[in-house]
Amino acid sequence: MSARITVLGAGFGGMELSTILSESLGDDIAVTLIDKSDTFVFGYSKLDVMFGRTTLDAVRLPYRNFVKPGVRLLRETVESIDPVSRRVTTDAATHECDYLVVALGADYDLAATPGLEGANEFYSVAGANRLRDILPSFSKGHALIGVCGAPYKCPPAPSECALMLHDFLTSSGVRGQCEITMVLPLPSPVPPSPETSKALIAAFAERGIRFMPNRRIVSLDNGRRVASLDDGSELAYDLFLGVPRHRAPAVVEASGMAEGGWVPVNPRTLETKFANVYAVGDIANTGTPKAGVFAEGAAAAVATSLLARIRGEGDVTLYGGAGSCYLEFGGGRIGRVDVDFFSGPKPTGTYYEPDVALRADKELFGSSRKARWFGL
Ligand SMILES: Cc1cc2nc3c(=O)[nH]c(=O)nc-3n(C[C@H](O)[C@H](O)[C@H](O)COP(=O)(O)OP(=O)(O)OC[C@H]3O[C@@H](n4cnc5c(N)ncnc54)[C@H](O)[C@@H]3O)c2cc1C
Repeated sequence: MSARITVLGAGFGGMELSTILSESLGDDIAVTLIDKSDTFVFGYSKLDVMFGRTTLDAVRLPYRNFVKPGVRLLRETVESIDPVSRRVTTDAATHECDYLVVALGADYDLAATPGLEGANEFYSVAGANRLRDILPSFSKGHALIGVCGAPYKCPPAPSECALMLHDFLTSSGVRGQCEITMVLPLPSPVPPSPETSKALIAAFAERGIRFMPNRRIVSLDNGRRVASLDDGSELAYDLFLGVPRHRAPAVVEASGMAEGGWVPVNPRTLETKFANVYAVGDIANTGTPKAGVFAEGAAAAVATSLLARIRGEGDVTLYGGAGSCYLEFGGGRIGRVDVDFFSGPKPTGTYYEPDVALRADKELFGSSRKARWFGL
């Protein structure tokens, strides 16, 4: 009988892992990939939707196009996970397996920030799509981009939001009547890369964007339109654009797999403390950023481990903890930072100056994955 592998979550991590397994073993493997959604959306597409550069329909990638030999993709919601018996219960069935991979990503905890439920956030597909209709009516006053806690997905994304908002308001002819502030619970926009952070801070200064590092939003008073920060100070706003606090999905917390909010793993092998159970991507506590490219790298390492176990031979590649992030700098220019968390004693970042030519690289990042996963 083929090895039975259940992968929970068809995001960056789950799709990449299933794709590698299918490429290597084809119909000789039985992968069950489970996701509650019927479409996938790249994280960065949320910014494009929000600023009206594209539509939600244009960036939704239907899972019906994810067709791989040896992989069954089921649209079900995971309701409980027993990591000891490797039994998963969904709203439709119970799944048992030889190997279990949890790749359910990070959820948003709006309730952790009082007032956020009545305000705007741009980290969910629905939130970004709502803002698409709201932003054109903002023509004067103070726009506050506020991060409510760390860790959060894609550390450069709030900075990209600030620079894209500047461009959006400029092209609408209202930038002169608007202020932009960004509150970030990190010491700099991209801590592993001082050069990238310096370039972003210079870009904020050139555009009159106020940057408040080492601060987070703790609550919002939507009536008074005032945000409270963790140092006790307050900031009045006319438009709030929030990044909610992140948390493990409730089903993972209830499974007993999470400790301190996330699933502890061996950072190089992604093994959890449960036999034959792995965790990859945003859900796993590897010490690397919550970003798709890191989820993919972790998935590739898990794939080598599973293939070696199934075949009884072959090398296991350890997770390298490295990846490239593209940054929207505004004016059509894209910067890039290559970060590496495991090669040296501390994380490092290599910065590539923003350039219109790098847009083609970013587009290739998306189109190559669309082709690989969805055959598009
Ligand atoms: C604004 C923004 C910009 C970003 N830009 C970038 C970027 O440029 N580059 C980059 O690499 N990353 C970027 N990211 C981050 C990236 O989107 C995530 O880090 C990445 O998707 C994580 O992959 P994952 O596989 O861990 O989880 P996800 O891709 O989030 O996948 C998890 C899947 O699990 C499913 N799921 C959750 N709970 C259940 C359940 N109970 N039952 C069934 N299914 C469930 C979800 O539907 C989801 O499909 C960005 C994120 C945001 C918000």
